[in-house]
Amino acid sequence: MADTMKTLILKVDPKRPALAAIKKAAEFIKKGELVAFPTETVYGLGADALNEDAVRKIFEAKGRPLDNPIIVHIYSIEQLKELARKIPKSAFILAKHFWPGPLTMILHKRACVPKAVTANLETVAIRMPSHRIARLLCKHAEKPIAAPSANLSGKPSASSAKHVLEDFKGKIACIIDGGNTNIGLESTVIDLTAKRPVILRPGGITAEQLRKFLPEVKVHAVARAEKKASIAKSPGTKNRHYAPKAKLVLVEGPKEKAVAKALELAKQQSKTKKVALLIFGSKRNVGVKGIIVKAVQKKRDIGKRLFALLRELDTKGVEIIFANGIDEKGIGLAIMNRLRRASSKRIKVS
Ligand code: AMP
Ligand code: MG
Repeated sequence: MADTMKTLILKVDPKRPALAAIKKAAEFIKKGELVAFPTETVYGLGADALNEDAVRKIFEAKGRPLDNPIIVHIYSIEQLKELARKIPKSAFILAKHFWPGPLTMILHKRACVPKAVTANLETVAIRMPSHRIARLLCKHAEKPIAAPSANLSGKPSASSAKHVLEDFKGKIACIIDGGNTNIGLESTVIDLTAKRPVILRPGGITAEQLRKFLPEVKVHAVARAEKKASIAKSPGTKNRHYAPKAKLVLVEGPKEKAVAKALELAKQQSKTKKVALLIFGSKRNVGVKGIIVKAVQKKRDIGKRLFALLRELDTKGVEIIFANGIDEKGIGLAIMNRLRRASSKRIKVS
């Protein structure tokens, strides 16, 4: 794809989206072009999910490995039935409680779903987003929209239109700028084709929330990202991901001890390198000469700001980032999944 394409930026108020702009973006989707758009999780890079050539453009623009399937975004339950077959009751239960919202369900695909979307798998990942702009785009495109996160493959996801531009200026037809995304982490991916529903990727909807309606929900080992484990079922869990250019060292263990260790290591390294320290979930907020320190306390705020922080530290030319881990309760599981997968080194303290 030529790098010289003009990327149209449409500024749209997420509270009162101008229909003319949405329709213009929907036209690009209908013509087989790529449109980046805000969702409640992160920005998505969308194409007509039923147009194989359009879907290929997503892989090309992102540099995404062809074996990593893409989530299909829908507007209605009718579309769900058009894309998936043998839909279990559990899917309707979850849809009732969590759609529209940050939950992606893996189901058996119908023949109309191109192989490029599912990376040759017989299953398809489907989500109904709640963000007004995303919903309107799905509605006016009159097609399901295949959309992975709008970042170059392996890089931190995009939580603002500025991040999308950094990665895709001149490479895609259109960006809808709807401001910062709210959750900041991607959707929860749950596989409903197995005997027991299993979370493959933790995200915006927590395991605890899901278990209120489906007590049998399991969390797959890959969702913890404890080891560099991968499974054929969800190839997206395979590679280092969400990674900043800087080296990220993650210190896990009892919180205050982990913060203290991260601080100690940051001080040592700052003698020779440009260093940043991320302090998560702690009241401690230290100012250290020569080190960029960012402290975020509440879990929801960590989720919301994590990718933006990693991108910001890259633009500042930081070489090493030290961060402490947090507990895996609630949205903590999704945060730890992203931190572990973004890290180049993990240290445990006890
Ligand atoms: P992304 O949209 O880039 O944030 O990533 C989408 C995630 O959904 C990746 O982890 C994919 O591996 C996963 N995914 C998409 N389709 C499927 C599928 N059919 N089966 C299992 N995982 C999937
Ligand atoms: Mg992604």
